[in-house]
Parts: sequence; structure tokens; C-alpha cells
Amino acid sequence: MGWHYPRGVTGVFDIVASDEFEQVSYFHDAATGLRAIVAIHSTALGPALGGTRFYPYATEEEALVDVCRLARAMTYKHAVCGNDLGGGKAVIIGDPATLRSEALFRAYGRFVEGLNGRYITAEDVGTTQADMDLVRRETRYVTGVSESLGGSGDPSPATAWGVLWAMKAVAERLWGSPSLAGRHVCISGLGKVGATLARHLAEEGAKLTVADVRPEAVDAVVEQHGAVPVAPEQAHAVPCDIFSPCALGGVLDATTVPELRCDAVVGSANNQLATPADAERLRHRGIIYAPDFVANAGGVINIAEEPHGYDRQRAYDRIRSIYDTLLAVFDRADAEGTTTAEAADRIARERIAAVGATRLIRTGA
Ligand code: NAD
Repeated sequence: MGWHYPRGVTGVFDIVASDEFEQVSYFHDAATGLRAIVAIHSTALGPALGGTRFYPYATEEEALVDVCRLARAMTYKHAVCGNDLGGGKAVIIGDPATLRSEALFRAYGRFVEGLNGRYITAEDVGTTQADMDLVRRETRYVTGVSESLGGSGDPSPATAWGVLWAMKAVAERLWGSPSLAGRHVCISGLGKVGATLARHLAEEGAKLTVADVRPEAVDAVVEQHGAVPVAPEQAHAVPCDIFSPCALGGVLDATTVPELRCDAVVGSANNQLATPADAERLRHRGIIYAPDFVANAGGVINIAEEPHGYDRQRAYDRIRSIYDTLLAVFDRADAEGTTTAEAADRIARERIAAVGATRLIRTGA
């Protein structure tokens, strides 16, 4: 059995119209084997910015549904964190291990250039900074290129900085002060984001418990910061102040949420909630959830600074605004008796409607 469109969906226009996508473009280059789809969900707030995922999708349909889902998520992420950017994403269909070549990325760059700035790309799963440097040779509309090319480099440190400020917002909310000194944080996933986050937290005087499937990653953080190790499958159940998922998505579900022994969940992992019902489960348990697309927005806030001429200090100052954004999300969720995830969605939708409407003002010839 292959993959098929969701029930009731028979073609591209059904998907595009179902959530008011502005544009979906298909690109093909026979010489390099490039097959790419760019989905632009919304440019109401600015050009659509989102990464290029290079993945061996089993079918075109699967690729289309994925690129649309990811593009839509970017619209909300940019909107809630105050970026003047819209939501877009791209996928290249195929196995990056065998298909990757200079010519393929340059062909892809020329297609992106052809969108004339409506879509700005970046790296994502399956693509690297080096790939984006190749894309840059054909188009200005790419971010996350090397610092030597005027880029902001690896977004992970910026993401970790943003998660730290998200935790500070939670601390303010729960304990009346943004200080994390003496607080116990359990981090699951010590990769590019998690390991940097552990360093920031150690500097803040937090107490750390850490988990990773790679023992060497755990050993390093235990040694450097005096963290306590825990098995990956037990990390979510550690009694602590904040549980921080920084590995895979889908960690908060009907089984794990009842086992949580924390006051808050704040991490970088994408799609932490297995289903929307899990946001409600957390709310019922009185556990504060920092919506993932707000807590992990440091990377895109950082990249959004590139088109203005990247300045690290300015970018990191802006990333700290995640603190105020989250406090607004918590207030809104309380006031409307809803989950923090839904409150963040509402704030994003309102900003798109309000700021997007100003585009109707005529600015001259
Ligand atoms: P990474 O690949 O560098 O790190 C992930 C770490 O998780 C690895 O060390 C891996 O060994 C570990 N891991 C895998 N399975 C695990 C498990 N079951 N339990 C515990 N640890 C496990 O990735 P990253 O760049 O640090 O990103 C981490 C998460 O944050 C991902 O979900 C990513 O999508 C998300 N994110 C990252 C960024 C960024 O700027 N890097 C931005 C936004 C969101």
C-alpha cells in the first residue's frame, strides 16, 4: 500500500484551497534529477521564509502534503514571534545521499530566484549550510549561508538562547522571577541545541538532569556541568521544575503526560504534542506548556535578521523578545480559558489579519 492523499482530497488544488495557500510551485531539472516543490502559504506579513527539506518521499502526494503542512506552520511561527515574514517551505524529493550535487543545488537556486523574492529558502532536514552556499551562487533569496557570505551561520546557538528566555518567562510566571538559579531542569536530547542550552542553564546556576541516546553526549555534559544522567526513556518522568524536550517530536502523548513530574515543559523539539488533545491534557494537569513554535523561534528570528545585514547583537536582543511573547501567550490562555498552544495560534492569526490589512494602504506609484 502506497501513501495516498487524506480522505476527500483528490488533487493539488484541494490541498492548496483547503488552507488558502497562495502558491505551490513544482520544479524539475532532468539533467540533475531535481524534483522540488515550493509551498507559499502566506505572504501577508512579508516574503515567505522556510527551509528546504531533502527527503526520499515515497510519493509526490506525500511530499506535497508535507511541504504544505510545514509551510503553514512557518506562517504561524513568524507571525507569533514578530517577524515581518510569511510562511513557506520547500521539499526536494529524493535521497540526499545519492542525489546531492553542486549542479542540483544550483538548478534549485535558479528556480528559487525565479520566484523573485516571494520565497526565501534556508537549510532544513537533509540540507546543509554548504548546500545553501551553492544555492546562494544563483539567488539572493537564501538565508543560513556561511558567515563569510554574510550569513548568520548555524542557527542552533540562537535557538538555545531563545529556549533559555522561554524558560525565564516560565520562571517569572511560576515563581515571580526570571531567575533560574537553583531550579531543576531535565533536558532530553543533547545535540546542537540541547548541549548549548545545558551550558546556559549551568551558567544561570540551574541544577541539571540530562538524557541522550548517545552516551558520549551525556558524558560531556555530566563532566562539564555536573549534570546527573538519566535513561532517555525515563527523562520525561524525572521530578523537576522544567522538562525540556530537545530531541524528537511527539514526546507529549496520552502515556507520557500523566507521567510528567514537572511544573512546566519548555524545549526546542518541533511538534512536541503528539495530538492537539495533549495540550488539553497538560492544561488539566496544571503543567505550563511553552508552545514549541514559540520556544524554538530563536533560530528563525536570527535568520530573519540576515536580509537586513546580519548583526549578532541585534539578532540576540530580538530573540530575548520570546520572553514577552510567551508571557502574552500565558495571559491570553488564562483570560480565554484555553490552552497555550491555541492562545499562540490566536495571537498569530490576529497579527496576520491586522498587519496584513495595512497592505491595503496605497503607498504611491
Ligand atoms: P541534533 O540532531 O543536533 O540533536 C538531537 C539530539 O537528540 C541528538 O544528540 C540525539 O542523539 C538525541 N536523541 C535522539 N533520540 C533521542 C531520544 N529518544 N531521547 C533522547 N535523546 C535523543 O538536533 P538539534 O539541532 O539539537 O535539534 C533538536 C530539536 O530541536 C529537533 O527536534 C529540531 O527539529 C528542533 N529545532 C532545532 C532548531 C535548531 O536551530 N537546531 C530550531 C528549531 C527546532
